[in-house]
Amino acid sequence: MIETSLNRVWEVLEEVKDPEIPTVSVVELGLIRQVGFEGPRLIVALAPTFVGCPALDVMAATIKEQLLEIGIDQVEVKIVYHPPWTSDWITSEGRQKLKMLGLAPPAQHGGDLERFIEAPAQCPYCESTDTELKNSFGSSLCRAIYFCNNCTQPFEQFKPI
Ligand SMILES: [Zn+2]
Repeated sequence: MIETSLNRVWEVLEEVKDPEIPTVSVVELGLIRQVGFEGPRLIVALAPTFVGCPALDVMAATIKEQLLEIGIDQVEVKIVYHPPWTSDWITSEGRQKLKMLGLAPPAQHGGDLERFIEAPAQCPYCESTDTELKNSFGSSLCRAIYFCNNCTQPFEQFKPI
């Protein structure tokens, strides 16, 4: 019984999008750390991405709203800071969708950020790595603006963290 409803909860969460990236769900971004019932209450553990991303309250409110629609009215959205969210948690579906938006997905670094901070961003349009960083603050703090020398298009990259 509880199994069934947890599956349903995950399905609902798959529909909750990051307000900044409206086609990618909070599950695909790796933001949902844990879901479980404590008695009648459903606890949803949500990891914040960047301190500068103001989307958290909106996401928490949307999660509660959506779950209410399937009849779960006691929901607590817990913000978990530890372990800190890393862009490695973005699922492969999530990465594909970011690419389709023209947003270069962050490289997977396995915790070894040093190695790859110097690594060139890959262009989401032509997959060339002949790119240069134009501005480390894109349209939000989470993004950096690059320019692709190969197809001469600017693009944004999700900053790996
Ligand atoms: Zn390109």
